[in-house]
Amino acid sequence: MEDKALVQLEQVSQVYRSGDRRFYAVQDITLRVHDGEFVCLLGPSGCGKSTLLRIITGLQKPTEGRVLYRGEPLVGINPHATIVFQTFALFPWLTVQGNVEVALKARRIPPHIRVPRVLDLIDRVGLDGFESAYPRELSGGMRQKVGFARAMAVEPELLCMDEPFSALDVLSAESLRGELMELWTEGKIPTRAILMVSHNIEEAVFMADRLVIMDKNPGRVVSEVVVDLPHPRQRKSAQFLEIVDQVYGVLAGTTQPEPIELGSTPGGPGQIRWLPDVSINNLIGLLEHLNKTPRQAYDLYKLAGDLGIDSDLLLRLVDAGEMLGFVVVAQGDVTLTPLGETFSEASILARKEIFATRIRRLPLVRWLLEMLRQTPDGRLPEDVIKTALSLELAPAEAEKQLDLMITWGRYGELLAYDEITHTVILEPAGVALPS
Ligand code: ADP
Ligand code: MG
Repeated sequence: MEDKALVQLEQVSQVYRSGDRRFYAVQDITLRVHDGEFVCLLGPSGCGKSTLLRIITGLQKPTEGRVLYRGEPLVGINPHATIVFQTFALFPWLTVQGNVEVALKARRIPPHIRVPRVLDLIDRVGLDGFESAYPRELSGGMRQKVGFARAMAVEPELLCMDEPFSALDVLSAESLRGELMELWTEGKIPTRAILMVSHNIEEAVFMADRLVIMDKNPGRVVSEVVVDLPHPRQRKSAQFLEIVDQVYGVLAGTTQPEPIELGSTPGGPGQIRWLPDVSINNLIGLLEHLNKTPRQAYDLYKLAGDLGIDSDLLLRLVDAGEMLGFVVVAQGDVTLTPLGETFSEASILARKEIFATRIRRLPLVRWLLEMLRQTPDGRLPEDVIKTALSLELAPAEAEKQLDLMITWGRYGELLAYDEITHTVILEPAGVALPS
């Protein structure tokens, strides 16, 4: 059988030293990136993603295992690969064009080939007109584009990217992702494969053909998810959300959807878990506290003391965290899941996305979204919802559950609430539903 692997890692391990302790940063990694593929390495920080990129590009030799490039053992730096880093060190004394040309000059590519190629690339990444600008005149997003153009100028067969969008603002990141995907999917660059490191789940599902999901201590591959959707991908489509949900499930340690019962009332007997009465800020506080030493199991009793809250509130917070897949509880101990860790480390916007994806799975929230979807304008008076809930709950409890759904739904931007007319409104993100 012909093996079209461009890069092949076989049982690769990396041992590092920290003081007099030696530890496996990654252990027994077997990974292939095929010709034509866009692969994303996804996982919590410290799981060895950057280490793997350095090994693949030949910047470092692994302690154990084999690295093959096009079937041949890799010796020294891989001349066919380039890495794009999170932030670029551009040369401040060179113009945009000068910065993109640097590597080509070093390779002694003559000007009549070099200059048109560089100008064309500058154009393709959307910097036309800025050829003679200096780095200090550019925004962060534009500097990152210069970095991309520089990486692509050498026409790497393998393009490696280490969290290339994470230092950018939301809009620059989104436009640069779009531009890169256009170059890649339309074959406008000679690159044969892309390997990207990310810890943004939506970004990974938006761009890659295959996600390799890692966990840490020691760094290892725990799962793979194939993203078989055409480009450009629709972030709000049901299929997209389903894959995002699946990835969250892997990180949360469960892929099983909760039991669900949709009808005129939210649950059959025993079907519903009511929402614990907690504020989102308190929940975030708990998760951030646990994330100080992520993989440690915390004793619930001790935790209440550390956080200075009573155990009743703590149990409600832990219950909420567990419902959302952010923590697991066993024998009186609570531990952050990789998803909980991802959430704690995410930006405000990414947190909202994670939160939205998780609450969409809750039967009660699904029930409300479904009711709203069935209205002509995606709106329902609060009273109507409260009345429906009162079939299952005492009035005060029904009101509490509705308040919680609205608060959680607003935070995840699935719902809006009109304070004047007391109306609950479906937001665009609430319309699509993973099946
Ligand atoms: P990631 O990119 O997934 O955040 P890294 O590959 O940077 O992970 O690091 C994996 C682990 O190895 C971390 O615990 C990190 O602190 C450690 N590490 C990385 N580089 C070195 C090094 N040169 N020496 C010692 N430890 C290192
Ligand atoms: Mg890293």
